[in-house]
Amino acid sequence: MAIKQFEAESKRLLEMMINSIYSQREIFLRELISNASDAIDKIYYKALSDDQLVFNKEDYYIKVAVDKANRTLTISDTGIGMTKEDLESNLGVIAKSGSLAFKKENELKDGHNIIGQFGVGFYSAFMVADVVTVISKPLGSDQAHKWESEGAEGYTIEPCEKDSVGTEIILKIKENTEDDQYDEYLEEYRLKAIIKKYSDFIRYPIKMDMKEQRPKEGSENEFEDVLEEQTVNSMVPIWRKNKSELTPEDYDNFYVEKRYGFDKPLKHIHISADGAVVYNAILFIPENTPFDYYTKEYEKGLELYSNGVLIMNKCADLLPDYFSFVKGMVDSEDLSLNISREMLQHDRQLTLIAKNIKSKIKSQLQSLLKEEREKYEKFYKSFGRQLKFGVYSDYGMNKDVLQDLLLFYSSKEKKLVTLEEYVSRMPEDQKYIYYASGDSIERIEKLPQTEMVADKGYEILYFTDDIDEFAIKMIMAYKEKEFKSVSSGDLGIESDANENQTETEESDNKELFDYMKNALADKVKSVKASKRLKTHPVCLSTEGELTIEMEKILKAMPN
Ligand code: ADP
Ligand code: MG
Repeated sequence: MAIKQFEAESKRLLEMMINSIYSQREIFLRELISNASDAIDKIYYKALSDDQLVFNKEDYYIKVAVDKANRTLTISDTGIGMTKEDLESNLGVIAKSGSLAFKKENELKDGHNIIGQFGVGFYSAFMVADVVTVISKPLGSDQAHKWESEGAEGYTIEPCEKDSVGTEIILKIKENTEDDQYDEYLEEYRLKAIIKKYSDFIRYPIKMDMKEQRPKEGSENEFEDVLEEQTVNSMVPIWRKNKSELTPEDYDNFYVEKRYGFDKPLKHIHISADGAVVYNAILFIPENTPFDYYTKEYEKGLELYSNGVLIMNKCADLLPDYFSFVKGMVDSEDLSLNISREMLQHDRQLTLIAKNIKSKIKSQLQSLLKEEREKYEKFYKSFGRQLKFGVYSDYGMNKDVLQDLLLFYSSKEKKLVTLEEYVSRMPEDQKYIYYASGDSIERIEKLPQTEMVADKGYEILYFTDDIDEFAIKMIMAYKEKEFKSVSSGDLGIESDANENQTETEESDNKELFDYMKNALADKVKSVKASKRLKTHPVCLSTEGELTIEMEKILKAMPN
């Protein structure tokens, strides 16, 4: 029988794949099980539109079996199977996904569970196997075929016998070498653990024959090993489970499995709402800013499921812009599967869920701030800017939600503080919340304008982000204390120097001031004697609402 070559580019790709795409070998099992699950799903979707085809859920399962003596691991399914052509095109061409084509042909949009799309998962089998044999009998045909390959060299296909429709993937597990261990993939308990870790929510049973110790018949203290077929996956998705059954690792794994991000989430929020609106949600606050987060390309949204079936990958209506960093999913029984995007926008249920989620996120961030300050600061470093944008946008409509989540650097504490902390420390005679703007903490510290306020013993908030001042203008006042820039004309501080002194200084030096004003021509409005300087000879100050920093930003903005 002639060996067919993989397509040229496939050969190189296969070598790369096997050696580098996956950092962990054990995921080969996840990939093969996902394919098996996809194959069963395909029958399920076909049955939806084909009256001749009945889908009895009990008849569909995945089986994982080992044969230690022959070093084989077999993953079989009762799915749709593959024809000879399927075997050639789906397994003979790398990066070709039959599952993606299936979704397109059947116009399945978001409402399906089919996982495959990249057409590379299957080849991960070669990370642990010398030989991969696929025996498959497609739905609606009597002829089965056997596909076999030893890796990059190519594959063979021949007709063969198989009783039932479905696919069997047989892996000849590699021998242990000095550096690499493969025997573990022939150990039932290890395989079961891998399945639990990655494939626990696969909706079809994954069965294994597990060795169990049983008392010997007729004897009370003698035991024997018996093989017992078990379903090893729980099938129930994580969000339907009780919080008390779940560990932090379960959530972390879910985050990775769903590819919400490449980092580890900073915090998870598991909601099982049972009141006016019924839904389950698992939300995550990521640790790191996604690379495209502060760009137009970034798309916010949560996955939306109806009764365990995905309806939408990124439902934007579930998150306000200022919480756009949140990742996760929502499952509600009350949403219709066939609901369109337009209808979703007006769905009362969805609006309620979104409102509910918003307040949950807020309270979780608040408790993170109170109870795990360090973690909160990490979060704030990644997403604080988004919160400040949130305060500023929509004419400050959301300031009440957000103002207590803001942090600013404090001149006194030399670290980030909340507005609440600032106000609670204010001396009785202090009227305003003072702030100073600049490029960096070091530069603000050198500003002559800060001197007078600092000398009074008042705390100053340092604004180093260009959005800071705009956000604060929207808040206007916190706990009835207004914000005041240290460079504004009237600082509201009773000066020790008396009024007359500055007045005489001004009249005595009238010529000098006039000269300076002329020299600076249209750069300044006036030159005055100042009461607020101590060690610095001059400073700039503004009249009216805008500070110098804000004017700079406004000037830099495109019209
Ligand atoms: P993907 O799953 O991303 O499509 P894979 O490399 O995992 O890519 O699989 C390639 C294709 O082979 C699948 O799209 C599917 O058409 C086919 N396939 C793989 N495993 C099976 C199986 N157990 N039953 C039926 N078809 C399968
Ligand atoms: Mg796959």
